[in-house]
Amino acid sequence: MHALIVGAGIVGLSTALQLTERGFTATILDRGPIPNPTASSFDHHRLIRHHYPDRPVYARRIPEAFSAWERLWGVLGERHYVETGVFALSRAAGDWTDRCRPMMEDLGVAHEILDPVAISARLPFVNAAGVRYALCTPEGGALMAEAILDGLVRALAGRGAELRPDTPVVTIDGEGGAVVTAGGERLTADRVVVAAGVGAARLAFPGKPDLVPYRTTVLYADPPEDLAAFWEGAPSWVDLGTEEELWGMPPVAGLSLKLGAGERSRGGDPDHERGTLPADVAGVLAAYGGRFHGIERFTVRSAPTNFWTMAPEERFVLRRDGRAVFVSACSGHGFKFGALTGEDVAMAVDGGDFDALSLRLAGHEP
Ligand SMILES: Cc1cc2nc3c(=O)[nH]c(=O)nc-3n(C[C@H](O)[C@H](O)[C@H](O)COP(=O)(O)OP(=O)(O)OC[C@H]3O[C@@H](n4cnc5c(N)ncnc54)[C@H](O)[C@@H]3O)c2cc1C
Repeated sequence: MHALIVGAGIVGLSTALQLTERGFTATILDRGPIPNPTASSFDHHRLIRHHYPDRPVYARRIPEAFSAWERLWGVLGERHYVETGVFALSRAAGDWTDRCRPMMEDLGVAHEILDPVAISARLPFVNAAGVRYALCTPEGGALMAEAILDGLVRALAGRGAELRPDTPVVTIDGEGGAVVTAGGERLTADRVVVAAGVGAARLAFPGKPDLVPYRTTVLYADPPEDLAAFWEGAPSWVDLGTEEELWGMPPVAGLSLKLGAGERSRGGDPDHERGTLPADVAGVLAAYGGRFHGIERFTVRSAPTNFWTMAPEERFVLRRDGRAVFVSACSGHGFKFGALTGEDVAMAVDGGDFDALSLRLAGHEP
């Protein structure tokens, strides 16, 4: 069996690898280089965390996601994960972090509650004013995205997979098991997997829902010297109890710390709005004002702007048409599931229970 994979992000590469595990040969097509620096998956790292209050199915899938990464490290012979632990702050009863707590108790996720005094001692970079408690998990941290993509590419090449960069696909023919490239070439295979990330918005596929590209800037920054010690061994964070949806990672693997602000994401045009504007940088820094000590004195080292794909209700999407399957496992939270999604999609392609897998990916209760 031969599979054509459209898109060399985490979903396409991980699915391709799982298909080779199942005996398929694979050809991976990407519209740019492989890996592609404009892919949603492309950055030094991406966060994996247990905090998932309003999506019980995704919350339950986090332990499975960790297991899938462990299996992938075994196949790659390398481990690309830095465990930092993760904290979130609650400021009001019933807020996002407060809703995480019963979910973690139900699922038996190891966690710890820090009161404001303990926060000042253990998370000294946090301004604890107005904070009720911190919800900390020892598990969670940085998946080293760039290294993972490189590792997958090497593993696929080692298994004889064909990697075709600079090959944009313009048409999918599910019944014919074929794709047509921008150069007019028609390629056929037993199975076609479309994992085109933001590019999927432009590809016609039966049953595909509306997919909206969202634009996000993150900052890599260093604290001033007098505060640097506060950050040694710091955990990642996913919510500081504010409307700005603040998330990020401490310094790991020699990188500056990373500041994200979910509320600063917006719909945008991935072909024309990739440049970072001064207002993007100022907006993220302002969102952290008063949350971390001395944020106004941090030095911003870089501020990449990237895009991800929002699907309805922030769910993952799996559709089938003849010999082709379409997957969008993103909605801004897809990397952490990348290894698991690859296993699921490969199973769906290789005769698994398609409807059950598509419900599972979409985060619906069985
Ligand atoms: C700034 C930012 C921060 C994020 N933080 C996190 C996080 O902390 N944790 C987390 O879990 N998730 C996070 N995400 C989301 C996560 O990165 C994505 O959900 C995930 O990487 C999506 O992977 P993908 O393979 O579906 O898409 P992509 O990585 O975008 O891969 C799609 C590939 O398809 C190619 N392609 C597109 N169109 C075509 C075409 N027509 N023909 C051929 N090739 C094509 C593209 O070039 C690209 O290489 C973040 C995303 C962003 C942008």
